[in-house]
Amino acid sequence: MEEIECIFCGNDSSEFISENGYSGKKCKECQLIYISPRPSLADVIDIYGHDDAHISAQTHIESDFFKSLYAKHNLNIITSYINKGSMLEIGAGAGYFLYEADKIGFDPYGIEFNHTQSKHIRENLNIPCIETPLDISIYDYKKFDIIYHCDVLSHFYDPIAEMKTMNEMLRDDGLLVFETGNFAEIEPYYLKYIDKFQYPDHLFFFSDKSINELLDSAGFEVVYIYKYSLMPQLKLKFALVKLLSFIKNDKKMDSNISSDSISTVDTKPSRDSSLIKKYLRYIYQYLTYFLRYRVGATVMKRGRPQTLIVVAKKKRQG
Ligand SMILES: [Zn+2]
Repeated sequence: MEEIECIFCGNDSSEFISENGYSGKKCKECQLIYISPRPSLADVIDIYGHDDAHISAQTHIESDFFKSLYAKHNLNIITSYINKGSMLEIGAGAGYFLYEADKIGFDPYGIEFNHTQSKHIRENLNIPCIETPLDISIYDYKKFDIIYHCDVLSHFYDPIAEMKTMNEMLRDDGLLVFETGNFAEIEPYYLKYIDKFQYPDHLFFFSDKSINELLDSAGFEVVYIYKYSLMPQLKLKFALVKLLSFIKNDKKMDSNISSDSISTVDTKPSRDSSLIKKYLRYIYQYLTYFLRYRVGATVMKRGRPQTLIVVAKKKRQG
């Protein structure tokens, strides 16, 4: 464990939410949220290598429908700027984004630390994917037209260094595109909608100001930042969690009365019920997507939890 200060401004911070035995600090200057003290780099790498990061690799591979929807949404943004060329995704997960990019004619490459997912990308999707950390030497010092990552920024141990490396790996007219949550400017009222900050998987949460600091110090300038409120999506989830816990309690009361009949029903799910479950999951996933990017783009964002899609380019030299 090591104590750190705001990576941009130094030490003037206040306490933010604690979770999982880790405490968050919030910089008074740029609103960056960071965990301090935090685990060592070796421990962080260990988490990903051993597949016990918050969501397991197999789950990532299976939750296909909304991953494809999210991927297509973000690809639509990218194709409004550039519609061909080489594309590197950092933290490619189960490869949905690269797969969709490949389909519409980009030349995709991935980095994914998780062996199960990385192998899936290479062998089932036939897309190059390596399991080594970001470095200019990977893929034979190749320069990319697009570098992309989604929900990865919060995981970087040294975000400034990683972004500087991305800058070096990008062609002069290339684009850096990434999606990340903005939880740093949330008003206290909305905190109850976020059930987990996922410390220590997440080491940083950025604000508008700290994202700009980060881009600037790594040699980038903003082209555009797309903002989406997560409140519609979080409210749906919040309501469903309440509903499900209500149903569970209801079942428990029933099972106290006749435990035999319930256990018979539960252990032999019919074909119909699993089909219904499958469709319900599709509907839920579509609704989640619709609330996140369609509704989320139009409703109030200030002070709410947000997800941002940042499009940036290299600053001109001199
Ligand atoms: Zn700061």
